[in-house]
Formats: sequence, C-alpha cells, structure tokens
Amino acid sequence: MPVPVSPPPSATVTYAFDVMPALGETLEVAPGVFWLRMPLPFALDHINLWLLRDGDGWVIVDTGIARDEVKAAWETIFAERLGGDPVTKVIVTHFHPDHMGLAGWLVERFGTALWTTFSEWAFARLARAQQSDDVRDSFLDFYRQAGFDADMLAGVDRRRGHYAARVLAPPAAVNRLVDGHAVEIDGRSWQVMVGTGHSPEHACLYCADLGVLISGDQILPKISPNISLWPQEPLGDPLRLYLESLPRFAGLPADTLVLPSHNWPFRGLHGRLDELAHHHDARLAETLAACDAPRTGVDILRRLFRRQLDDHQLFFAVGESLAHLHFLEGQGKVRRDRRDDGVFVFTRVS
Ligand SMILES: [Zn+2]
Repeated sequence: MPVPVSPPPSATVTYAFDVMPALGETLEVAPGVFWLRMPLPFALDHINLWLLRDGDGWVIVDTGIARDEVKAAWETIFAERLGGDPVTKVIVTHFHPDHMGLAGWLVERFGTALWTTFSEWAFARLARAQQSDDVRDSFLDFYRQAGFDADMLAGVDRRRGHYAARVLAPPAAVNRLVDGHAVEIDGRSWQVMVGTGHSPEHACLYCADLGVLISGDQILPKISPNISLWPQEPLGDPLRLYLESLPRFAGLPADTLVLPSHNWPFRGLHGRLDELAHHHDARLAETLAACDAPRTGVDILRRLFRRQLDDHQLFFAVGESLAHLHFLEGQGKVRRDRRDDGVFVFTRVS
C-alpha cells in the first residue's frame, strides 16, 4: 500500500504525488518509470531509487547503501515487482554510499554491468582503497591545516574505512556515461547531463519523450546538496563547480517532472534552480564578515555550525566551511595565508 505524504508547503516547487511507495514496493511515476525507497541509517533516513522498464527487463538507477536491510528490501522487489525479468543495466548517478553501495552486488547477481561516469566509478574504487598510510598522512595534513586540534584529528582515524564499510566493491569495469550522450532504454533516449560540485562527475538523466529528469543529489527539492571540500583535492573550489553546473539544467522545460534522490518527485525545476543558486548567499556573507580577522576553517565551522556535531557531521561541516572560504578566495574576496604552525588562515580583502 502506498504511504501518504504531506510534504511541507513550498512556494517554489509542487510535489507531484501525495503518496510514496512503502518499503519493498514501487510506484509508477511516469510510463515505465517506477519509484522505490530504501532506508538510510542517517538523519536523512531514505533514498529514492528508480526502476525503468526496458523491453522484457529492467534498468536499475542507484542502488542503496550496503546493509542487510536494504538487501532484504531488494529481495522483496525482485520477487514481487521484477517477476523474474532480467536486469539489463545498473546505472549509478554518483559514488556516494547510498547510490553506489550495492552496485557490485546487483551487477553480479544479474550478470549485467555498471553504467556511470568514469570519475564516479574511479572515485568509488579509490575511496574503497583509501586505507594506506600515505592517504592517512595526507588526510591528517589537510585537517591540521584547516585548524583541527588533536581531539578532532583523532576522528580522521575513526573514519578510516567508513566508505568501504558502506559500499561493496564496485565492478572492476564500467560503461562510461558521457555528458550529452544518450542511453537508450525501452526505445527512449535518456540524455546524460553531468553536474559537478556535490561529487566529481554526477550523472543526471533526462528523457525528453517523458519530460522526466532523474536528478540524483544534484537537484533536490527541500534540502540542498552537500557541497564540501575533501582532502583529495585540498585547493579545490567545489561551490564554484556546483554553481557553474546548475544553469545547464535551466534549458529543460518548465514542467519537467524531477525525480530526486531524497525528498519527493516535483515540478518547478526553474524556481528550484534559482533557489539553490542563492542558497549559499547568506552563508557566504556570514563567512566573509567573519574574516574581518584571520580565520581558520575550524573558526568558520564554529561560526556557521553552532550545534554539537558528531564525527560524521564534523567532516561534512568543515568541508562546507572550507568550500565557502575557497569560493570567496577564488572571487578575490579573501586572502589565504599560512601561519607559522602550518595552519591556513583566511582574511577579508578590503
Ligand atoms: Zn550524494
């Protein structure tokens, strides 16, 4: 039985359905496009996945985190919804655990292959392997330079292996999704649209025939995607990458049905793109104002996130704080200096 939903009212988006599928069930949201939900062990407690009819088979889009309860929900879907039909493709939007987690398991089980962008596949393989000492040293340097004290640095070791614990080994080979190229599913063309900033090369899929965009985490209706700086790219500017990639979606029709990975399917893409583009304005202004004296990444973290943060939240929060600082640095609004203790500080350029 579908579960009723009453999303919070929004001035920008219109939620397309007032029900959502129960665990182990599906709900058809467009011809041949089915919505299913899988549990997540975080504050954000679910992910939306998609099943696309493909002739006599099915295409799976995103896979859920690697946990027994998610595998069990998949078993129910296989038995009661797929009816023994083959899976023709497993498509993954990006490398994050809730999307990539069970890709290897699904591919092996159905004797099919993985389709995602090259960067997302490569990064998933890399992130599972990041247990070596050189990686640990590089991560410790990165967080020390952001202003972490000894207590906070201990969290770096506690996080070791966290990706591998949530993601089974992705296949050793990939079918590459390329921005602007199309994937044919059930005789329909789904165009790959790559977004950046949230992950290296996030694949969205747009079907003009159906007027449907599978937006992954790139465009979400209620929460905004996490945009963080990570130690693998210490001088990166992910917020610039994110803001630069949003306009690519503005050319899609206004009535596009957007299928996001969290919250609920919606219409109102253009208004939501505007909202997401300006979502960071207030925090950027607060960050800039705070840099009236030299500030570390941790200083900005304490300013932007006043609540108590657990280990998991701490790394996302410092990543977001650094993303804001680096964006301002890229715009020439703050200057980066290195203190004698090696920690980077940022100061407003007046
Ligand atoms: Zn994500």
